[in-house]
Amino acid sequence: MSQINYKILIVEDDPQIQKFICHALKGEGFAYIAVNSGQSAMSILVSEQIDIMLLDLGLPDFDGMDIILKVREWSEVPIIVVSARDQDKEKVAALDNGADDYLTKPFSTLELLARVRVVVRHLEKMGNQSSTACLAVGGLKIDLEKRRVILDEIEIHITPMEYNLLALLFKNIGKVLTTAFILREIWGVGYGTDTQALRALMAGLRRKIEKNPAKPRYITTEIGVGYRLADE
Ligand code: CA
Repeated sequence: MSQINYKILIVEDDPQIQKFICHALKGEGFAYIAVNSGQSAMSILVSEQIDIMLLDLGLPDFDGMDIILKVREWSEVPIIVVSARDQDKEKVAALDNGADDYLTKPFSTLELLARVRVVVRHLEKMGNQSSTACLAVGGLKIDLEKRRVILDEIEIHITPMEYNLLALLFKNIGKVLTTAFILREIWGVGYGTDTQALRALMAGLRRKIEKNPAKPRYITTEIGVGYRLADE
């Protein structure tokens, strides 16, 4: 993967954190542009080819949330939100407004690069759509055409709802999906608050695919946010 092909826009007003992010991305060979306000972020986005945006939610001029909404009116650029630890509600809102993932401050270089790599893999997969009918994570495979699920070479039987949930997670491998998003996608509009039903469905699915459902290897819980299908 030649990461130099990917240009990342860093929107962060804290000079130390901005420096830290730049350093980490530079070390991996990514190209980047760093700005410290929402206004400059917007002007870069319209004038430059940006592949990924790292967005701090607390900026001096704009609320990061408004930037996400504005950008989503005309761009699909992947957005990784950077927020402080006590902002679970904001993280969820950011994801529901169209952000792709989030990082919680303080974060390590490893976490930052892992999140960026997930997005890069998505971008590369989209560039080669032909092989998306069968997807796999470790020993867990799904055939989206035949609606089959295979675990360690053996086909397993899951309910249609469990299948829909697993397929949704597979279509978003590595990405955190909010509870509200999953409810909307699986049950439809109007069922946005039945988190109990989702928990029960998830428990059933985990019993069938996880060796130890209490310590899931495939589907992890993002506390206060939602769920994520591990991507490796
Ligand atoms: Ca800030």
